[in-house]
Amino acid sequence: MTADLPSHSSVVVIGGGVMGCSVAYHLAKLGCRDVVLLERHKLTSGTTWHSAAQVRQLRSTRNLTQLIQYSTDLYAALEAETGQATGWTRTGSLSIATNPDRLTHIRRQAALASAFGVEAHEISPREARELWPMMNGKDVIGAVFSPGDGRVNPSDLWSRAPRPAARVSSRA
Ligand SMILES: Cc1cc2nc3c(=O)[nH]c(=O)nc-3n(C[C@H](O)[C@H](O)[C@H](O)COP(=O)(O)OP(=O)(O)OC[C@H]3O[C@@H](n4cnc5c(N)ncnc54)[C@H](O)[C@@H]3O)c2cc1C
Repeated sequence: MTADLPSHSSVVVIGGGVMGCSVAYHLAKLGCRDVVLLERHKLTSGTTWHSAAQVRQLRSTRNLTQLIQYSTDLYAALEAETGQATGWTRTGSLSIATNPDRLTHIRRQAALASAFGVEAHEISPREARELWPMMNGKDVIGAVFSPGDGRVNPSDLWSRAPRPAARVSSRA
């Protein structure tokens, strides 16, 4: 998409990956009326395009975890707000362990999840296989299931902020 660029703007966001698009979207939503987003190629054609699209809520700090929790709520609501589907599907996620050290690690993650308000609980190898029948679970000794996790379509995550609050310019 090309656009007539204004001669000046209060905010210029450089880079139309998921981060730049998110910054422009939130500024527009907060009422910033002249945000320009500049992308040198195509929107989301950078690292965002390569993403495996997994959205896992549990992060290493409480703030990051809260940020992802906010994101999952936003992904679920964006289509109704903007008409742009994000592909958000709440699949849940499985962490599996095939040795005792890994089992200790995922149990610690589950405990951390609980402290951060993220639902995650230990399940048996049999339950893990029931959730994901394609898995070869012969050597799985334990697993943790996080039902709130999911996936998106990364290239669809850029959201059209309400016009004329934000303008987007990209060169194909
Ligand atoms: C293989 C792979 C798998 C991944 N899987 C996951 C996953 O499952 N879950 C997850 O959460 N994360 C995943 N990630 C990480 C995630 O993709 C990145 O953290 C995220 O996309 C970064 O977004 P960004 O907006 O910061 O960068 P980018 O998407 O790279 O956006 C930067 C943009 O800036 C533009 N730009 C740069 N310089 C200029 C300039 N001077 N002028 C104009 N435009 C400019 C670029 O063209 C680009 O479009 C994965 C990453 C990779 C590589």
